[in-house]
Amino acid sequence: MRKIITCIGIRPDIIRLSQIIKKLDIYFNNVIIDSGQHYDYNLNKIFYDQLDIRSPDYNLNIKSGSHAMQVAKLMIEFEKSLIDINPDFVIILGDNNSSLGFALATSKLNIPLIHIEAGMRSKNWLMPEEKNRKIIDHLADMNICYLQEHKENLLREGLNPRRIWVVGNPIIEVVNSIKINMKNTNPFYLVTCHRAENIENKKNLNLILNFLGELYRRKKIEIKFIFMPKTKQMMKKYDLQFEEGITPISPQGYLEFLEMEKSAKLVLTDSGTVVEECAILGTRCLTIRESTERIDLIELGVNTLTGMDIDQMIDAVELALKTTIKPVSHYGENISEKICNILIGNSLKFNYEKDR
Ligand code: UDP
Repeated sequence: MRKIITCIGIRPDIIRLSQIIKKLDIYFNNVIIDSGQHYDYNLNKIFYDQLDIRSPDYNLNIKSGSHAMQVAKLMIEFEKSLIDINPDFVIILGDNNSSLGFALATSKLNIPLIHIEAGMRSKNWLMPEEKNRKIIDHLADMNICYLQEHKENLLREGLNPRRIWVVGNPIIEVVNSIKINMKNTNPFYLVTCHRAENIENKKNLNLILNFLGELYRRKKIEIKFIFMPKTKQMMKKYDLQFEEGITPISPQGYLEFLEMEKSAKLVLTDSGTVVEECAILGTRCLTIRESTERIDLIELGVNTLTGMDIDQMIDAVELALKTTIKPVSHYGENISEKICNILIGNSLKFNYEKDR
């Protein structure tokens, strides 16, 4: 049996990989390594428990820090694991700092690198994730994309088509594996907001909090704001407070959060995974950003970018509330099985390619 490493960086990676890992365990000798970038129980272990994933074999404990500290620490720790384990190939997912560290360390040792979620582009070079994605896709020996348009992004950047596969989006298997109840509560809007572009910048964070305050004054509908530790930290740093009508809530488990997504009248978020889940559930959703890599959802009319102007943001909410949306159906099926088949079929004849 071939020996592989499956890398987990942060919360959404645990969620997205949950079904894939179960399949990989059947076909491969699979070593799971968690970076430890997310380490609180409710940002990490709760997802292993709720999604019934076995515990990681190693945790690299990199925790928080600047971009350079996280990537550097991860590379140093992961290089030791790579030498120790000597895998046939390494699987990473996503675009966070851990994904980048995992990719760099793997590629530098000339170990074949597989990237799931390849080819997404927001075209916003100021986003840390955009830099990470581009570097990772160019390092990867096999790029596994969710959609054809992601493959086209890679072809435009000159990647060899032999290194690209399109399989669909694994989040649909995860959402479909869970029985989600509707919450019987008063109407509410659900907010998550923790992208660097929104919170590590006083002007944008202040604008988002003012927008939410204005939204409550107009609608008088409770706004449930799920905040990450970093958002709280930045609000303290910039001396900003939640306005009336906004209920701050600490990070929730996956089952609880999916229930909230399904029950909310409207979801406002800067998370890429949350917009996909809302599109699957048929919940109205707006992206609090000026650019997105989920262009498919904008084109299908199930998601809208609010931009960063309060009047425009309020208009976007008004319009969304008038719109009925249907769950999307373009994410495909049997994604985990397809990924395993591609890995079995190609990794048997796979040789690390000197000449690309
Ligand atoms: N999520 C969760 N609990 C919460 C907030 C989010 O389980 O309190 C889930 C959400 O359903 C989605 C993922 O976490 O699957 C999104 O994570 P995040 O926004 O951190 O990542 P991104 O999508 O921005 O990379």
